[in-house]
Amino acid sequence: MRARDARVASRTTYTYKDLQLNRDNAAMTDILDAFRAILDDTGVLTGESVSERVMHPWYPRPIEALCILRPRTTEEVSAILALCHERGQTVIPHGGLTGLVQGCNCGPTDAVLSLERMNAIEDFDAVGRTATVQAGVPLQTLQETAEEQGLMFPLDLGARGSCQIGGNVSTNAGGNHVIRFGMTRDNVLGLEAVLADGTVVTSMNGMIKNNAGYDLKQLFIGTEGTLGIITRVVLRLREAPRVFHTAFAGFENFKQLSEFLRFSDRELGGALSAFEVMWEDYYELVTTAPAENTRPVPLDYPLYVLIEALGTAHDEEKNIFEEIMGEAMELGLIADAAVARSGTDRKAMWRIRDSVEEFFRYGHAFIYDVSLGIRYMDDYVNDVKRRLTELWPEHHCFTLGHIADGNIHFAIHMGEDTLEAHAAVNQCVYEPLRPIGGSVSAEHGIGTEKLAYLEFSRSPNEIDLMRRVKQALDPRGILNPGKIFAA
Ligand code: ZN
Repeated sequence: MRARDARVASRTTYTYKDLQLNRDNAAMTDILDAFRAILDDTGVLTGESVSERVMHPWYPRPIEALCILRPRTTEEVSAILALCHERGQTVIPHGGLTGLVQGCNCGPTDAVLSLERMNAIEDFDAVGRTATVQAGVPLQTLQETAEEQGLMFPLDLGARGSCQIGGNVSTNAGGNHVIRFGMTRDNVLGLEAVLADGTVVTSMNGMIKNNAGYDLKQLFIGTEGTLGIITRVVLRLREAPRVFHTAFAGFENFKQLSEFLRFSDRELGGALSAFEVMWEDYYELVTTAPAENTRPVPLDYPLYVLIEALGTAHDEEKNIFEEIMGEAMELGLIADAAVARSGTDRKAMWRIRDSVEEFFRYGHAFIYDVSLGIRYMDDYVNDVKRRLTELWPEHHCFTLGHIADGNIHFAIHMGEDTLEAHAAVNQCVYEPLRPIGGSVSAEHGIGTEKLAYLEFSRSPNEIDLMRRVKQALDPRGILNPGKIFAA
């Protein structure tokens, strides 16, 4: 234990009982003083230290909250929650604030709980291929640490530099490699969470297989901080790929593209690790000035794919990848394609996929992450665009997706940023999902943004069971209230 940790540890002996015993103490009557009694001097931010921070970088606005609490240990999180439970104080967990569904929204009476100072990688097991990390570790830090050991943490998304593991887990983040490695949920082996009343549930399982009773970690994965605060996580790592085989292809229509998906997945024998589809509207946006990307294939097609396969170090394999692409071309499954010849080529192709900041070229855009069967996608996308055109002939709709996972993203700009306009666009996007059993969220979650649409994707009995779980774990409703369903 480092000296600083030792000093902090000596201050973490406040428990729920202690706080109850001290309830009459004058210093405890004010909740901020009570927080200051639990945390060190820099652990409780108020006033300008709160408002100088901004919410999501795409929608910058100052954070408004009673305070930002910055614990360094699970014990401190436990003491904070025990106190908040007792006082009925609402708690809003904050990670890297890169979520896209307003799941971290807070107001002047809320205490924000930021795990930013719980940012240690506690253990790295290169043999068992696991990493034990605190919730505030940035995703990219873990990715780089794994890389140094010849390993990989396969979760990857645009916000990698700022998002935190705790946020990734509590939102069950998806990203670019789900087709091969699953969502965050599939890469979590164990975790530790603190319940609303301060109870610490340590379930730091490090094994791939463990069927001993309920898999309790699932209570906290993807539940957006409404059932507990994740403090530590055991993650599954994989061997780092020796090489990547990457190509960019154009398609005449969706049928051709979906046949190519099956063909490439089959021919690549399980190595397919990314299949990122971009519709013409997105491809044109991100390859037209002021965007600086150059086009690997001409802007002649309605659909494009960035395909990537994990490879070994054998030279002949590169030829096999090119042969598969060539065969697809001969079979008429691709209209045009460019294969990456270097790491620079590969980066340039990925930059096209990742240039999502261009969504905002025309001003505010509403962002979507719907999920549906691949067989419905072509008609669905056309239906959404038809509905939008009827209402706003001048709108912009940019479309892309991890379609092998059934996931499509839209960024829609129609010149207005009002609640009414948002609701109208939501109807265009969500209504046609209902008859085909789609989901209003593939990977971003519900937050506050999709509260009204949860019932589009979940039955009354499902929502009722969610509420019963919430009531059992957080009877006073202090944890991230108003997220997923109305408080
Ligand atoms: Zn995505």
